[in-house]
Amino acid sequence: MPLLLLCSISLPTDYTDVEAAATDERKKLRIPVLNYHSITVDPGNIATITPEKFEAQMDALAEEGYTTLTLQQFFNILEGKEPSPDKPVLLTFDDGYADNYQYALPVLQKHQFHATLFVSPGMVDDGYYLSWEQIKEMHEAGWDIQPHGMTHPHLPKLSAEEQAYEIVEARRLIERHLGTKADVYCYPYGEYNQSTLTILKEYGFRYAFTIDQGKTTPDQHPYKLKRIFVNGEESMSKWKSKLEKG
Ligand SMILES: [Zn+2]
Repeated sequence: MPLLLLCSISLPTDYTDVEAAATDERKKLRIPVLNYHSITVDPGNIATITPEKFEAQMDALAEEGYTTLTLQQFFNILEGKEPSPDKPVLLTFDDGYADNYQYALPVLQKHQFHATLFVSPGMVDDGYYLSWEQIKEMHEAGWDIQPHGMTHPHLPKLSAEEQAYEIVEARRLIERHLGTKADVYCYPYGEYNQSTLTILKEYGFRYAFTIDQGKTTPDQHPYKLKRIFVNGEESMSKWKSKLEKG
């Protein structure tokens, strides 16, 4: 009996220790969110990366044991609802270039990697940007598809009403075409103002990504999450050091 009593007394203490350790772990959490755009050959354009270099970066992530997160996993980890893998990374692609379908989709499938695509649905279906058919196929292959404004506008230059249309209509079209939730926003050019933040809150968006540079941490404002811009002109070692140190 005394032994049993001892056990039952020690339980709450253990539990508290575990909880405290989890909180400490979460405070240290820093997740790199890589920000890609077009995958093509366009020397001098730092927002593009060649298909060869892109594949080399994905191969490096696989070799070094990185886990590419789904958007849901990413937020669960940030919110402390699930443990983080050793080396987490979130891959994001902005604008919805057709070359993402051609070059990123097969490389990511090869590694069984997850990714998030931020599209501007007002710009699809003209050959340069992804068609809905291609977006659907990427979605079925495990990509999360989320809004990036209807026409990729400079939001602060628009009235609150125009901003709401850009943000909410983009979301509505994605949800209608894919039957999924599209409540994570990504600011075109990383630009927003107070009206933008009010609209996101009003329409129940969960999170929004900026182009402020750095890793994402749980203490960042949910509408001001940081990312790491991938400069396609930079060396592999520079890319790796940003990924590791952010
Ligand atoms: Zn963009």
